[in-house]
Parts: sequence; structure tokens; C-alpha cells
Amino acid sequence: MTSVFVTGGAGYVGSHTVRALRRRGYDVTVFDNLSSGRRTFVGDARLIVGDLRDRDAVRTALAVRPHAAVLHFASLIQVGESYADPRKYYEHNLATSLNLLGAMLETEARALIFSSTAAVYGVPETIPIGEDHPLRPVNPYGRAKAMVETVLEDYGRAYGLRSMSLRYFNASGADPEGGLGECHDPETHLIPNIFLAALGRRPELEIFGTDFPTPDGTAVRDYIHVSDLAEAHVLSLEHLLAGGAGGAVNLGTHRGYSVREVLARAERIAGRRVPRVERPRRLGDVPVLLASAEKAERLLAWTPRFSDLDAILGTAWAWHSGRG
Ligand code: UDP
Repeated sequence: MTSVFVTGGAGYVGSHTVRALRRRGYDVTVFDNLSSGRRTFVGDARLIVGDLRDRDAVRTALAVRPHAAVLHFASLIQVGESYADPRKYYEHNLATSLNLLGAMLETEARALIFSSTAAVYGVPETIPIGEDHPLRPVNPYGRAKAMVETVLEDYGRAYGLRSMSLRYFNASGADPEGGLGECHDPETHLIPNIFLAALGRRPELEIFGTDFPTPDGTAVRDYIHVSDLAEAHVLSLEHLLAGGAGGAVNLGTHRGYSVREVLARAERIAGRRVPRVERPRRLGDVPVLLASAEKAERLLAWTPRFSDLDAILGTAWAWHSGRG
């Protein structure tokens, strides 16, 4: 059985991927500090509770058994917080990655799947965004992710560490089979916030920005179902284990929806009106983010199966309303 080591496997995208890996028969060890992840999300995978800032802890955990590959999800994800407290983001997202890579170089593990983000591109110059678009991240969150990508390129050349940096667009939805979903605290993402407002768990949805240069004035994003992301990780892993070349790959759908479009469809799915209030734009939010998904389709033979907006919203609603 092939063994893989998964940091952040108790978190949102990590746990969906762990479930997909277990279904394919991988032996999975999750390394997670449970700061935002949930123990139950790990399912029947092995869990080591530990912190990537502790270099000895990650070294010891990784060396317990030979791992064919590492999937690195563990990360802070709040863009707004990263402006206010960049040190936290460089310490948690950059320094921890160096600890992990250092530990890998002391073992046989030479394949890594890295959770990167569309935020590495900054303000898009062309839409849709291809992987060769310049990387000019505009916030510390995106900058730390771009720095890790650069480190991975250098470690690849020097130490033969092969890696794929998967640049997620807007991860959303929940496993259609239930039991896993999005639960950040505080929650900053659009779709959970719509449903939390629908359920009265927050007073209203705040619509950030109604004066963008888009058809209805609200920002357009490329929403990708978390189960499709999970599948892309398994395919990337198989690609690397088969000796394929690494690199950066966008994970998106090439289709976009505005905040108002998502809200209207979500109200239909929930069968209730969502109280809302219009606010100014959030710092650093760009009008439109749309992925070119052509490389993922070509390289990995990946096709999103659940990323139709109704499927995303239906599974997210089931999760938030307690039926997921
Ligand atoms: N958004 C919003 N209200 C919220 C959360 C998000 O209007 O409570 C908007 C946000 O400004 C952006 C889009 O919804 O235009 C998607 O935001 P999210 O935080 O989900 O993802 P991002 O694209 O920022 O990574």
C-alpha cells in the first residue's frame, strides 16, 4: 500500500482529499495541529496532532514510515488578516513549509503536492488566467504562497524534489456523501456566509463592493467544488508517482458568477430570503477572477464533475443546514 503524509488533513480541502485518497486505497497519515481542523474529518486515516512550526515534531512524524509523497494543505487562509498581521502569515505559511521540505529531504519522500492559490496572480492582466500569467500577489497571504512555489522550483532543481503547486480558485461546496464541509472561524467566504445568514446564524450577508466594472457591479469568481479539488489532488499524486513532471496548475472551471448571482441561486436552493446589506469593497478584492483550466484537463485528464453552481450550493446548503 502506498503511504502518503498529509499536512492539514483535518481542514476543509485537506479532509475531502484524505477521504478521496482512502477510497483509492492509500495509507494516509495526517499531520494537523487541529487549530481549525476537526478530528472527526480525518475519518479512518492515521492522525498525528502536531504543529509544523515545530521542526522536530514534523521530522519525527515524517520518519515514522517511508512516505511516497507529501500533500501540504496546512495553512492560514484569511487574506484580510494577512494584511494586518503579515508576520503570522510568513511564520505559518512560509516558515512551516521550509520545515516540512527540510524534513522531506532527510527522508526518501521526493514528491510534494502544494496547496497554492489564485491569489499568487494578484490583479489579473488577462482573463481567463493561464499558469504563465505573471505572479504579482498583492497581499501577504498570496506572497507567502508564491514564495513557497519559488522555493519548490529551486529545491526541484537542486535536490530532485518534484512538486506540483495547485492554484485553487474559489473552493466551495461539501462532499455529496455528507460528514465533511466548510467551517472556518471566523468565516469570511461568500457561500458559507450566505447560508449562515439564511439560517440566522449571522444577522445578514454583507455584499462587499457593488461598484465593480462587472455587469451587476459585484465581483465575479470561479467557484470550484471541493470534491473536484480532491480528485485533482489524487490525479496530481498519481502523475508525480508515475514520474510525470511537476509545475503549477490552475484548478478552476473557467466559468464565473457574480456575488448577486450566487446569492440569488442560493436563496432559491435554501427556499428563503437572505437578509443582506451593501458594503464598500474589501481591501485587495479584484473585479474578476477566472481560471484557464486547460492545463489541468490536458495534464491530469481532470474534469470537474460537481462544480455546476447548483451542485456547489446544494451540497453546501445540506452541510450548513445540518443535513450534510
Ligand atoms: N464576499 C461578500 N460577502 C462575504 C464574503 C465574500 O460579498 O461575506 C465577496 C468577496 O468580496 C468576493 C467574493 O464574495 O468578491 C468571494 O469572496 P470569498 O471570500 O469567498 O473568496 P475570495 O475570492 O476572496 O478568495
